Amino acid sequence: MSARAYAPRFPPRLRRHDQLVRVTGDIASNIAERDRVYTWRPMAVTGAPELLIVMGAHATTDQVEEVVARLEEAGCAALVTPGREATVIGAIGERELLAALPLEGYAGVEQVLPILKPYKLVSRELSPDPTVIEARGRRIGDGYFGFIAGPCSVETREQTLETARVVAAVGATMLRGGAFKPRTSPYAFQGLGDEALDILREAREETGLPLVTELMDPRHVEEVVDATDVIQIGARNMSNFSLLAEVGRASKPVLLKRGLSATVEDLLMAAEYIVKEGNSAVILCERGIKTFETSTRFTLDIGAIPVLKQETHLPVIVDPSHAAGRRDLVLPLARAAVAAGADGIIVETHPRPEEALSDGPQQIPTAEFPEFAAEIRALASLMGRTIG
Ligand code: PEP
Ligand code: MN
Repeated sequence: MSARAYAPRFPPRLRRHDQLVRVTGDIASNIAERDRVYTWRPMAVTGAPELLIVMGAHATTDQVEEVVARLEEAGCAALVTPGREATVIGAIGERELLAALPLEGYAGVEQVLPILKPYKLVSRELSPDPTVIEARGRRIGDGYFGFIAGPCSVETREQTLETARVVAAVGATMLRGGAFKPRTSPYAFQGLGDEALDILREAREETGLPLVTELMDPRHVEEVVDATDVIQIGARNMSNFSLLAEVGRASKPVLLKRGLSATVEDLLMAAEYIVKEGNSAVILCERGIKTFETSTRFTLDIGAIPVLKQETHLPVIVDPSHAAGRRDLVLPLARAAVAAGADGIIVETHPRPEEALSDGPQQIPTAEFPEFAAEIRALASLMGRTIG
């Protein structure tokens, strides 16, 4: 019997235990069997997964359940991830308690390994299969390429709808647009707030595109989560741990941008904060970091893409617009991102960038966006990706 064949039996059993968290979600009936779509449950992980128990490829459900039962008897908890190759069980509990268990001797167990990395739930070790994140039927991850585009900020209804129509027409998969803007200057345009959320809703209504918009302030959680399909946590908030925990309890996927001076490990630890609270649907975004270089707005860390892809099962996308800061560099950086294995891009486009209230120099005029999109689609397909 394959691991996949008994995977659907897990959720009912695991839900009986509030300590147990099933990171992989239900296999939606309308999605191919091989795709795993994450769902959200208000189940936080208490304690760090310390050990990785890899079951043999032919391990039975009963053997997996036996291991889980033994862990529970010992006062520990288990996190079961059925994978394509094998089922992996993360053991959560005191190191001493776990060390006392003869886990390697249990039937069906192939290997027991310590999880040495500081990030656990987001690590590839604990969940070897790539995660697919879904919003309104659009997917990112495991071969599905997310093409997110839209203006930096929602400025007017007309500007947003005009942009949304182009974004939809060129085959992008999600619409971006800031309602609450993190600006360096307190005197710069701060976003239209709630009014922008209503404009974005109208754009979604007309185009069918799921929305990506930024949440900046815990006081806006309710309205932003209610309006958007994907919650963006901006670079400047990557280390706002209480905000991360807040979206970890939300029922929408999160697009988490890398902080301006954050390492890859910092980004993964920030994602761990979200997943630990029960929300496993996190998309990581490389958007450039601060270096001594001044010819670009930020330095796009292309190397972070393959590193992240090795370290985590979460999808990794790239924002070439904020990295470049100049529209002439957005296409070459986007090309590099796709070629390096990114699961998607998020790009800014505006009908009249010269009039934009934020980030004008880096926004691609919508008139030029079909050409940009055609290049991205061709390259994504060359890399074996399906536009999600
Ligand atoms: C944005 O995407 O609108 C944005 C402000 O990006 P970042 O947080 O990466 O600067
Ligand atoms: Mn911007």
